[in-house]
Amino acid sequence: MRFPKVYQFGPISIPETQVFYTSQHCLGLVNLKPIAPGHVLVISKRVATRLHDLSPEEASDMMISAQKIGHAIEKYYNGTSLTMAIQDGPQAGQSVPHVHMHLIPRRQGDWANNDDIYDELDNKKKGVDNDERKPRSTEEMKEEADRLRALFE
Ligand code: AMP
Repeated sequence: MRFPKVYQFGPISIPETQVFYTSQHCLGLVNLKPIAPGHVLVISKRVATRLHDLSPEEASDMMISAQKIGHAIEKYYNGTSLTMAIQDGPQAGQSVPHVHMHLIPRRQGDWANNDDIYDELDNKKKGVDNDERKPRSTEEMKEEADRLRALFE
């Protein structure tokens, strides 16, 4: 019998069913509370808090992974652009102390004011209803990860 694998995202345990992409040093995972369809995360496999904690190999793998995943999800979610963001440290809005890049497919008119997406990413910003956004179920995340995994096979 094979036990399901679990990955660490800071203090959070991520079941392998949420992971749709694996490289030597990074993982692509679906989001518990996406702010838009296709909002996914690229994280380092190793638990490291800040971008500067990554080795050159890990950092370049993260960028190459973001390039591959971004290209695939933009197409898959019928986007025409991508927002890619790292909130590197708590004062920059980082809520999970494990370096990760947000990848969000964008399209014309998705936010009335284009840069409002950054307020929405920063869940500590006043007036943003991130705390009210309902976490997705394990099944919902597995279903999305299964579809995205197929893009990389
Ligand atoms: P940040 O605020 O930049 O640290 O981003 C943290 C991200 O992690 C947010 O997009 C959250 O929705 C996401 N997140 C938190 N818990 C989980 C989880 N268990 N699985 C997947 N994504 C998560």
